[in-house]
Amino acid sequence: MIVVLSKGISGHDKEMVRIYLKDRGFAIREQRFGEDAIIGASGKGVVDVRELGLLPGVERVAATSKPFELASRETRAEDTIVMVGNVKIGGSRITVIAGPCAVESEDQIMETAACVRESGAVMLRGGAYKPRTSPYAFQGLGMRGLEFMKAAGEQYGMPIVTEVVSPETAVQMKDLTDMFQIGARNMQNFELLKKAGSLGKPVLLKRGPSATIEEWLLSAEYLLASGTRDVVLCERGIRTFETYTRNTLDISAIPVIKSLSHLPVIVDPSHAVGIRAKVSAAALAAIAAGADGLTVEVHPRPDEALSDGPQSLYPEQFEKLMRDVEALSPVVGKELLRTPRPHHHAVFGTGPGIGAAADAAFFDAGAPVAFSGESGAYAEQALMRAFGDDAARVQTDGFKPVFDAVLDGSASAGVVPVENSLAGSVHENYDLFLRYPDIAIVGELKLRIVHCLIADERADIDSISVIRSHPQGFAQCREFLDKHPAWILEPYNNTATAVASIVRDGAVKVAAIAGEAAARAHGLRVLKEGIETNPLNYTRFVIIARRVGDKAPVPPSLGSLKPTKASLVFSVPDEPGSLFACLKIMSERGINLSKLESRPIQGKPWEYLFYVDVSMPDSAEVFDGVIAELKTKTREFHFLGAYRAAV
Ligand code: PEP
Ligand code: MN
Repeated sequence: MIVVLSKGISGHDKEMVRIYLKDRGFAIREQRFGEDAIIGASGKGVVDVRELGLLPGVERVAATSKPFELASRETRAEDTIVMVGNVKIGGSRITVIAGPCAVESEDQIMETAACVRESGAVMLRGGAYKPRTSPYAFQGLGMRGLEFMKAAGEQYGMPIVTEVVSPETAVQMKDLTDMFQIGARNMQNFELLKKAGSLGKPVLLKRGPSATIEEWLLSAEYLLASGTRDVVLCERGIRTFETYTRNTLDISAIPVIKSLSHLPVIVDPSHAVGIRAKVSAAALAAIAAGADGLTVEVHPRPDEALSDGPQSLYPEQFEKLMRDVEALSPVVGKELLRTPRPHHHAVFGTGPGIGAAADAAFFDAGAPVAFSGESGAYAEQALMRAFGDDAARVQTDGFKPVFDAVLDGSASAGVVPVENSLAGSVHENYDLFLRYPDIAIVGELKLRIVHCLIADERADIDSISVIRSHPQGFAQCREFLDKHPAWILEPYNNTATAVASIVRDGAVKVAAIAGEAAARAHGLRVLKEGIETNPLNYTRFVIIARRVGDKAPVPPSLGSLKPTKASLVFSVPDEPGSLFACLKIMSERGINLSKLESRPIQGKPWEYLFYVDVSMPDSAEVFDGVIAELKTKTREFHFLGAYRAAV
């Protein structure tokens, strides 16, 4: 049975609840889940649940039907999001952990960390203590290996996870690792679980090869009852009669766990399948089934690996897997987390003349990047993903000042939205591109928009009477707002500005619709997360920079990668076949169109501009030829830039 306590319960009332339960024969444990304080009561005691529910400070009593109470969804309806360093696991994101099976040397872990990070992994894995089936197999480098791992994690900005095999070593390892892994063979080593759960670190709990889902959740319960709230479950295949694969990946465990428990669940396809060539397929199946992430074995030279070489991916295979996971994530309403790459700014062609610009140059790291809005704005989120969380920023009030800041050099780049998947193109920014021919698009990124209802600490949903947001925020949360017809809607220029206004006014009866980051930035509380009607809500941001000749700096995450896409804006003569003639030029050269939109030209009734996004062919000469030919067929022609996805 679980007793959920009210937020502001007094020490006295809490003590009364404890005494009430103890007197009736229950063993009790107290636990916090984010905002909620919970008392778990177990044993043969008998209680009148209604009477217990009426005690002062008791919000709700849940008579859980499951033996794993703290891990149960009945105790906590929302998904738990586990923080490991600055990386989140759970909720609407896919988190990928990658690295070798074992730490073999300082060079090996550094090299692997560099390559998995380059492909976008956000956490580093690697065993320093290896529980091997054979006593003669490589047992790991122990503490020395962990020190190498810590150094690699720090060097590449990735929190680390490593296996702990005994309660004694857990204590020694505590300050060196960001997360403990409990291996499959130790899933029911209860002394180890109790110790690992008490050290205040997140724990990745692998499923035992012969453990039922209930046994696995009871092991998670040990961890939670020992004091940690940060437990991530990891399905890694179970022992079945099948011997072709190393284990049998229990895909159905993922949706089962999702309904039984609030804890995040990730999948280890490497140990499940055991055969390199089959690992990626299993990984994608896991994401499709609702897993919150993956932990994947990758080795720079798997043939030389000291353990699990046959199931370790080559770096190129991992790169391909990450791209596939990125493409699949929106299908299941999630977004792949990616580590921003280190700060170096390359200068790249935004051409016509792309071919000549392939010799990337670099300029000043740490130069500020401009965005419009208050801190916590979606544009700032996009900026942080492309340039890193600690990138220097220039905040402006409106999009034009972003273009101005980039043009006059007070910002080295800017981030502006150009399109939302529900609301369409942001015409204001397209217009600005035409007015600022010296500004080019140098990168793009798509951000999933998750709207939250945000208010003061003291507010709750019933005390709210006014809602502030950008009109798009209202439009995108229509179904939720329709359930509260009495609320008054006040439009603001920007969602994060609406959040800031609550703090400025000290308002308690006002809530804002904006992203979770805006709540964090302004010290407010999220009353409800994910209130947008359609969860497939994405905004496409572009990164802009000033052209110098036919070049412009590109965002750090791109290094010297070649552009894959270009954006054009043109108008055509008012005569039959004029648009067709342009499209034909592209079609004949095998250039794919990913966007074609027309919009009226301001001040010229019945004349239209076309917004066109095209794929870049391999040959720069072919592309330059296409641009030259298009210019002869169009009336007005603007080349906004050649670029690729920045994250
Ligand atoms: C590992 O992750 O390297 C490992 C030993 O996994 P498992 O405990 O799932 O076998
Ligand atoms: Mn392994």
